[in-house]
Amino acid sequence: MLNPPTIKTTCPYCGVGCGIEATVINAEQHTVKINGDPQHPANFGRLCSKGAALGDTVSLENRLLYPEIDGRRTDWDTALQHVANQFKSVISEYGADAVAFYVSGQLLTEDYYVANKLMKGFIGSANIDTNSRLCMSSAVVGYKRAFGADAVPCNYEDLEQAELIVLVGSNTAWCHPIAFQRIRRAKERNPAMKIVVIDPRQTSTCDIANLHLAVKPGMDGLLFNGLLAYLANTDSLDQSYIDSHCDDFASCLAAAQASAGDLEQLASACEVSAHDLAQFFAWFAGDSKVVTVYSQGINQSSSGSDKCNAIINCHLATGKIGQPGMGPFSFTGQPNAMGGREVGGLANSLAAHMDLENPAHVDRVGRFWQSHTVANRQGLKAVDMFDAIAAGRIKAVWIMATNPVVSMPDADKVKQALQQCPFVVVSDCIANTDTVELADVKLPATGWSEKDGTVTNLERRISRQRPIFPPSGEAKPDWWIISEVAQRMGFSGFVYQSSADIFKEHAALSGFENDQTHGLRDFDISALAHIDQLQFDSLQPVQWPVNEAARQGTARLFADGRFFTDNGKARFITVNPRGPVNTVDDEYPLTLNTGRLRDQWHSMTRTALAPKLNSHKPEPTVEIHPLDALAAGLAPSCLARINSRWGGMLARVEVSESQKPGSLFVPMHWTQQLSSQGRVNALVNPVVDPLSGQPESKQTPVNIQPWQPKWQALVLSRKPLTIRDCDYQVKVKGDGYWRYQLAGQALIDNLPAWSRSLLADNLNPSDDFLEFADIDEGSYRFAELDAQQLSACVLVSAKAELPEPGWLCSLFAKPALNRQERLSLLSGLPPPGEMDVGRSICSCFGIGEKTILQAIKTHHLASVADIGRCLGAGTGCGSCVSELKSLLLKA
Ligand code: SF4
Repeated sequence: MLNPPTIKTTCPYCGVGCGIEATVINAEQHTVKINGDPQHPANFGRLCSKGAALGDTVSLENRLLYPEIDGRRTDWDTALQHVANQFKSVISEYGADAVAFYVSGQLLTEDYYVANKLMKGFIGSANIDTNSRLCMSSAVVGYKRAFGADAVPCNYEDLEQAELIVLVGSNTAWCHPIAFQRIRRAKERNPAMKIVVIDPRQTSTCDIANLHLAVKPGMDGLLFNGLLAYLANTDSLDQSYIDSHCDDFASCLAAAQASAGDLEQLASACEVSAHDLAQFFAWFAGDSKVVTVYSQGINQSSSGSDKCNAIINCHLATGKIGQPGMGPFSFTGQPNAMGGREVGGLANSLAAHMDLENPAHVDRVGRFWQSHTVANRQGLKAVDMFDAIAAGRIKAVWIMATNPVVSMPDADKVKQALQQCPFVVVSDCIANTDTVELADVKLPATGWSEKDGTVTNLERRISRQRPIFPPSGEAKPDWWIISEVAQRMGFSGFVYQSSADIFKEHAALSGFENDQTHGLRDFDISALAHIDQLQFDSLQPVQWPVNEAARQGTARLFADGRFFTDNGKARFITVNPRGPVNTVDDEYPLTLNTGRLRDQWHSMTRTALAPKLNSHKPEPTVEIHPLDALAAGLAPSCLARINSRWGGMLARVEVSESQKPGSLFVPMHWTQQLSSQGRVNALVNPVVDPLSGQPESKQTPVNIQPWQPKWQALVLSRKPLTIRDCDYQVKVKGDGYWRYQLAGQALIDNLPAWSRSLLADNLNPSDDFLEFADIDEGSYRFAELDAQQLSACVLVSAKAELPEPGWLCSLFAKPALNRQERLSLLSGLPPPGEMDVGRSICSCFGIGEKTILQAIKTHHLASVADIGRCLGAGTGCGSCVSELKSLLLKA
């Protein structure tokens, strides 16, 4: 028998862009074996916990499979014609700016290209923006201001060749795990390599840090101004590089010295030790090979663009750019944020890194697309776009592959805006998201395992995403859906047979009049403009530019000290540091920081399908420093209400020394679908950077107080349940069961009846039932067994204490419970001799915290390698290594 074919594709999650080898096990059942691609230069065979679990996310569970209008299934022709008619009607009555597209870094480059071409090239508005606005639009402004182009200079090998890596505003260990692992291994090979982490929180990334600067939130711009002043004061500038390759240094340095010239004052303002700050500055000055990695902690700020330039200024001032092992390196969050930048997916850019407000660029793109209606001014950026929808100025919006009701700041307002918008189209592969629920028209798009096209990772590397399965149901590629609507609106230039056709057009535009005569542009993949289908299918990962001068791609930019400004020189940008717009006060005394977890992606529509990814952090949590917890009367694991001026939420408390006093951290992932009150972006202030439009998602003033329910419950069921009207509810998919954490503020009159009503549809009168009640204690336990196999259990308590769920959950894997297990079932505690494994630490092998702690003590384990040899934990994807190190300290 022939071996099933292995398909090379790429991971759909973070911007690292890991290569994947997918081997289909059963095409009909959508089962596939996932491995890292040993040949892919981003990951050389490694995958993190999310990538490794991709095989668990490709089932048809919760897939949108058919077009719908107003909740009723329809055919594609009707749906497409309806969308085209509605958009045409709004445009003819109110003008082109009355419609909008809100798209996503999850789209493939070809999808993105066609969406942008339709809106900016033919509808004639630039009202297309992307969820990448929330992620890295400040980094785009930073690069464009300094280099004259949105050009990332570095690559992953630079991380391995550096003497010093500065990780600022980046929990790389959790958000870009495979890049982090490359750094970790490089440091193991070269112990002289130094790592500095600049972050208010002590994250898992600090595990490899020589120095952690727990900077006060919002002070990064000031800190890097201080570095620039220090470099000047200590004669550490590369004056020759500055003179030959840069402009505007004097005013930039003057501002740095004026704002941050005194190291003691700077340290005090940043709330770090002057000694540590001086150490970082001395390392930066002394090492020639320095890479500064920055991410959302820098970008998601009302002064994010300036912070990016404060970092770039220091690299230009020391000439630490353009050579191996050095440079300012923006880490993008999404798999194709970079592809979106290339095609002009942001409302303030045109295709192929050209500018909307440059008449020559507009003219050039118009001639290439054969359109006289190319937009020539910026459209509405994400926050402004949803404000315009709320105000009724935008009357038709098409949302593609993203979930703004969860991810946008002031998310409740976004939800209301979509509820009142006259016409909302959503194309997605998922049937039930907080945003899909509000759509008038639902268009089923192909999912990751069915998509065919390209993505660009954060080091400018274009890789193929190849289909593993044929499209499910009636799902279609996004580019096809957009092109069909465009044609029905009467526009020419949208007849494509395949994603390869679109890629070639995109490549041709990148090279169109891109020369010395017309002006050189950074983004140029013209060498790929004439490839055939076979060559597209076998396209190898390659870093742009890919043109006549660099047919094999370009590893690193600016080696010759030439930039994409008019005179070829880089520009220093004067930075006058500003703090967050909304500051803490008596009513809202704490700063809310939001971010990602290790095992979840965005709004969990896919990662929450994988049980092994849900066990690490199953509930919305709020991390708080012990002093703040004490002041607020919060105990570990209790429930808390967090409020801002914009909204509120409930979360489970994690008291942690790693949190800076005065700050809270809440993960961004939870949705209404999975939690009744866990959407943190409902609280986040909608303030934006005036240049980039990126929201200040890291700094919202909030308060926190205990939320004391009258009862809490743990419900486990082999079948999913429909639970309504519960004040606090979190739904978690487990391996063979569903877990519900519930709590309420109204007393339950009849606990037995209430418990049975929860299981209503699934309750089988012929099953066995176990029951225990302690009315005085307000405690009730109920279990249902079908032929000795556990079907469901309900544990309710008027007190906060409920048993940890690990042991109970493990019972769902057993074909029959023995007598001892049945006896223990109602206590929720394992029988003597058995142990609850605790929360999951190692996702690959499902190993819990308590198991690891006990093994450390029992077997005197002293290192991560010891734990790996004993339990296997940490030997799979490696994402848990930092937490294993913490457990070694804790044991
Ligand atoms: S680091 Fe993980 S999430 Fe990111 S691309 Fe690689 S496997 Fe995917």
